[in-house]
Amino acid sequence: MEKEISKNFLEQIIEDDIENGKNEGRVHTRFPPEPNGYLHIGHAKSICLNFGLGESYNGKTNLRFDDTNPVKEDTEYVDAIKEDIKWLGFTWDNKAYYASDYFHELYAFAEKLIEDGKAFIDDSTQEEISEMRGTPAIPGTPSPNRNRSVEENLDLFRRMKAGEFDEGSRVLRAKIDLASPNMHMRDPIIYRILKAHHHRTGDEWCIYPMYDFAHGQSDSLEKITHSICTLEFENHKPLYNWFIENLEIYPTKQYEFARLNLNYTVMSKRKLLQLVEEGLVSGWDDPRMPTISGLRRRGYTPASIRNFAKRVGVARREHVIDVALLEFSVREDLNKIAHRVMGVLDPVKLVITNYPEGQEEMLSVENNPEDPTAGAREVPFAREIYVEREDYKKDANKKWFRLSEGKNVRLKGAYIINCEKAIFAEDGSLSEIHCTYYPDSKSGQDTSGIKAKGTLHWVSIAHGIPAEIRLYDRLFSVEAPLADPEKDFKEFINPDALKVITKAIIEPSLKHAKLGDFFQFMRKGYFVKDQDSTPENLVFNRTVTLRDGWAKKQEKK
Ligand code: ATP
Ligand code: MG
Repeated sequence: MEKEISKNFLEQIIEDDIENGKNEGRVHTRFPPEPNGYLHIGHAKSICLNFGLGESYNGKTNLRFDDTNPVKEDTEYVDAIKEDIKWLGFTWDNKAYYASDYFHELYAFAEKLIEDGKAFIDDSTQEEISEMRGTPAIPGTPSPNRNRSVEENLDLFRRMKAGEFDEGSRVLRAKIDLASPNMHMRDPIIYRILKAHHHRTGDEWCIYPMYDFAHGQSDSLEKITHSICTLEFENHKPLYNWFIENLEIYPTKQYEFARLNLNYTVMSKRKLLQLVEEGLVSGWDDPRMPTISGLRRRGYTPASIRNFAKRVGVARREHVIDVALLEFSVREDLNKIAHRVMGVLDPVKLVITNYPEGQEEMLSVENNPEDPTAGAREVPFAREIYVEREDYKKDANKKWFRLSEGKNVRLKGAYIINCEKAIFAEDGSLSEIHCTYYPDSKSGQDTSGIKAKGTLHWVSIAHGIPAEIRLYDRLFSVEAPLADPEKDFKEFINPDALKVITKAIIEPSLKHAKLGDFFQFMRKGYFVKDQDSTPENLVFNRTVTLRDGWAKKQEKK
């Protein structure tokens, strides 16, 4: 049993709010992605957090797309995001929300600010505006347009909306405080001209609200009670609160937590997009990617990701989580549910010389010792089998419990065999191993009294089926690929992050494996069938090895 994890600071806040009758006792959270890329494991943490709080406190959680930048957004991303959230096991009332659904309300909010003398149209260029903004130490200077009349501002804003002006020629800025130490308060831009097609509103608009003018107000319009963001939004909060006060709208409260950082990968959508666009990975769902779709294709389970998010917890300080914890979570889950099967990744022929030629038998092998309901399957056994090349060693010492002249080993689910001799090719490579078997040593009915310390996996040559096996490792060979700003993070891509084995032989039961079935290839790790698989060319991905090989590497250093 998992130890009860103590309440995180957000749960404490929510419980206090409920106790004090805030928000009429309601709990309403949201997960607000920008549909400009696929979701990654960091988003998964935010999803588990927001939807999890909604569930725990009988509240609600909205899925809302903050789609204010038509240039970078696409329905492909909207669909992928929905699929990922559903796959993680969360639902959202069948209705997804969109900031773009509020474009009319947001426009009205902007007009209200103008009418109240709290926003103005600025004709300055981008460069002029950033220059006038000053630095944190030096106050900004007012734009020459700052004191335009309400009438002129309103007229210009309406004409901006009507498409009379060119992109970049004018913006709408809030009139707040040029001396504020918070740069976001120095007359921030709230609307800009973008003559771009929006994936939902089409060509209806040629002005779009800035993210900061849409995000907080969208929360308010949805009467979100607890708006949970990552820490980088902490200094946007005064601006969001300024909008709430000046527009007199629902006072959503924002709380920040530390984003999830993982070692040996990158988690910015911009960087992930680069990997995709430059063809350094096969797509957003490449199993090396930290995306939810990549992890799913790799063979991660929803439960493993939810458990990982729980273990990581919610903190107020930035830190980096070891990816080994994610791998631990998936091993833990797969150990419970994956059927044990046999596949030989680097096959070498083994002949059992005293097993009658032409004879074969079906052996019953249990599917999962961890799960008594998992049953058993029939595995064909015969005189000629494949075993793993690395399971034979010439001149082995006492600690070698695998194949070597004179040693006994058990074939999983079958017999104990004795290794008699190995045959080598001219180039010195191992070509065949000859063994004899003990007929009365059959698994489950062993009366032989013979001892064998090692148990090997094997596949009958006549019955085995060929498969392509993709072995994955960490995408980057260094812990922090972004640590050195002078260097291109792509230099650190791990060249061994994908190894393709084309000559593996797997047991015949795997012919009927379905996408989404989980397997443990005995001694080789956890595997799933890949979507590239065809009946002619079966493809399996290794999700994770059985043990943490990286921990060992670190110890050796
Ligand atoms: P990225 O920085 O990876 O491009 P983003 O913050 O721009 O991500 P959004 O679509 O805005 O992506 O994110 C949606 C939600 O997910 C936001 O509330 C954001 O705070 C949260 N989120 C993004 N990255 C992480 C992370 N690494 N850990 C936890 N939450 C995250
Ligand atoms: Mg963002």
